[in-house]
Amino acid sequence: MNIHEYQGKILFKQAGVKVQDGIHCKTVSDALDAYDKLGTKVVAVKSQIHAGGRGKGTLYDQETDDLVMEGGVKIAFSREEVEKYAENIIGRRLVTKQTGSDGKIVNNLYVEAGCSIAHEYYLALLVDREEKSILIMASTEGGMDIEEVAENTPEAIHKIWTHPIDGLNEKDAVEMAEKLDLEGKSKQELVSMLKSLSRLFVEKDCSMIEINPLVRSDSGEMIALDAKVSFDDNASFRHPWMEEMRDHSEEEEVETRAHDHGLSYVKLDGNIGCLVNGAGLAMASMDVIKLYGGEPANFLDIGGGATRESITTAFGIILEDDNVEGILVNIFGGIIQCDMVARSVIEASNDLGLKVPLVVRFSGTNHVEGKEVLDNCDLDVHTASTLAEGAEKIVYLTRSVE
Ligand code: ADP
Ligand code: MG
Repeated sequence: MNIHEYQGKILFKQAGVKVQDGIHCKTVSDALDAYDKLGTKVVAVKSQIHAGGRGKGTLYDQETDDLVMEGGVKIAFSREEVEKYAENIIGRRLVTKQTGSDGKIVNNLYVEAGCSIAHEYYLALLVDREEKSILIMASTEGGMDIEEVAENTPEAIHKIWTHPIDGLNEKDAVEMAEKLDLEGKSKQELVSMLKSLSRLFVEKDCSMIEINPLVRSDSGEMIALDAKVSFDDNASFRHPWMEEMRDHSEEEEVETRAHDHGLSYVKLDGNIGCLVNGAGLAMASMDVIKLYGGEPANFLDIGGGATRESITTAFGIILEDDNVEGILVNIFGGIIQCDMVARSVIEASNDLGLKVPLVVRFSGTNHVEGKEVLDNCDLDVHTASTLAEGAEKIVYLTRSVE
């Protein structure tokens, strides 16, 4: 799950990471109030969307598609400028390198005290699965595309690791500060920031924290000027506050619906819908479909605790996708019973109409009963006894549709 910059900065502030004062706004008049409250002459007027590259993005009118303004992050030097920028941003469509050409509608704005920047750095914390640890990456080449830095000057990216249980080693943090050529107060502030962020990352079950730019101000303070924070959804049960931070308008409607039913659903570009239980089996099913020359239309894991209702929803989500030309159901019955899945699939098909070929592979608990249910229904269902057979069949059947 992703959150907005302004929300990330609330968490930073609580954790002791320095940020500029700022106020979240929804309207132009909010933005003007925020300017008055902040009391600084220079402010940054910042579009809030779940994508980076806002500064270099372009704003378009939603209806006419006319270009409204270049730049989704603007520095305003007066109240009038705040008004102008807020008007140009709120309700517009912001297209950045990360949004795709459709862009995203800006419903939220952040007005933040301006910062006099001496230097921009890059800082990120990520889960490093290979090292079973949290990787901290930093570079003096901040403010720009880090992918470009990684490609052209990989030596400019410095790495240390912070252990999820033992925490960050002071020596490593100091070494990082030195690699960034920081001295005195700035060096101390970076070390303390790295400790705070490491703690925050673990406590809140983050999957990523990216601060680009982290800046050294003219007075030597180290300040997080941007905040991109995402959380591991699997840990959301530990953090009830996460639900409050979720911005549904930033998420795909079907993905939200899937999430509300305990399903993990990701839409993909192919034409074969997949309904599978277990993330590993879902990945394997997608691989085997590809092996036989097909393209999966989605990743969908109905999970271990799937019910008749959640499976009906899952099947409905697949059927709604216009790109789907065939469906593979691959269930390994454990706690979940194959005959219950069969009945749910039939129910959803009867409700929504099944117009594409369907291949079902059942294995494990009640697979015989499941197959019986399918054999005795009115739907045109093909059954398979192995994943390979099922994948081959659905790829063949979708090909013959064309
Ligand atoms: P994005 O990464 O989406 O483009 P940022 O938050 O990084 O958005 O902002 C883009 C640039 O705007 C930053 O690199 C920084 O130079 C400038 N900027 C952002 N916030 C402020 C601020 N409060 N004061 C001064 N400059 C800012
Ligand atoms: Mg940024």
